Amino acid sequence: MKLTYGISGHVLLNSHDRLNSITEAHLKQWLTETQVQARFGKLPTYVPRLSQVQSDLLAVTIQTDRTSSVAFGNVAKPFVLMSLVKPFLLLFLLARVGREAVFSRVGIEPSDQPFHSIAQLASDRGRPRNPMINSGAIFLASLLPGNTPTSRCESLRYWLNKSAGCDLTLDEEMLASVQPLGNETNRSIANLLKRAGYLNDIDLAIETYNQICCLSGTVVDLARLGLLIALPHPNVSSDDQHIVNSLMMTCGLYEASSQYSMRIGLPIKSGVSGGLIAIVPKVGSIAIYSPAIDEIGNSVGGLFLLEQLVHAHRLSLFQTD
Ligand code: GLN
Repeated sequence: MKLTYGISGHVLLNSHDRLNSITEAHLKQWLTETQVQARFGKLPTYVPRLSQVQSDLLAVTIQTDRTSSVAFGNVAKPFVLMSLVKPFLLLFLLARVGREAVFSRVGIEPSDQPFHSIAQLASDRGRPRNPMINSGAIFLASLLPGNTPTSRCESLRYWLNKSAGCDLTLDEEMLASVQPLGNETNRSIANLLKRAGYLNDIDLAIETYNQICCLSGTVVDLARLGLLIALPHPNVSSDDQHIVNSLMMTCGLYEASSQYSMRIGLPIKSGVSGGLIAIVPKVGSIAIYSPAIDEIGNSVGGLFLLEQLVHAHRLSLFQTD
């Protein structure tokens, strides 16, 4: 290991060494406290099957290259990505259709409104504000190649599995649970998008969006997805990685994004299923699953554990010592 010294003479570890030095024992030491914190969260009720999961599940994986990882907890338990798919949908489309096709029609501004806010979209006159909220992702889902929701979801799934070396599958039961309920808001969003000229086919866009949200994997799959934007990759340009990381930093936790940019200092994305992915650029990824969420839609246990790890191991991008 090459040692670097700060002005005061103490050894400066780089983020690579810091992330690599985390062991299973380090992860284990936060287990009890994370589970206590997770009790302050709730399971989402608007998707019936999400409200039935065991709320004290906890899993974490740290991946620093494609073969080695540190993992702890219920790591084999699959969960649906929900909004965790959004950064990877964006990444795929940047690679597939390019920046102009994406950003001529979706913005990059953060929002202080909830992820499914109709008021935000209305005040933006139907223009999706950013790719990390529902309006942006429903619009982006309409750019996926394929003629049916299934072929569109499949093209994304295939590319992600092949590029990241993960094994995402479509959770059909969750999809059936999502379809009848909770869709009114997303349908209203799609209606506004259509009226503003961003969508042609509302049903196709909503059904595609629902399917990609129901792609399911474990924390190991999620951590591997994270490597797509953490490390150089032959299928992905570094400019696109930069874009996705910066939008995760500014918009990935919705209204709480700037708060956690200060508290944690890493690009992070959440999903209402309780998954969380954090990126340490050039070094690796941290994936956490803890299903109880706060009122914004972010995993309570996940954010707690991530914050402890980042502080204890000085992983923030803004850390100067
Ligand atoms: N499919 C979910 C929804 O549209 C995803 C939301 C989320 O994970 N924040 O409500």
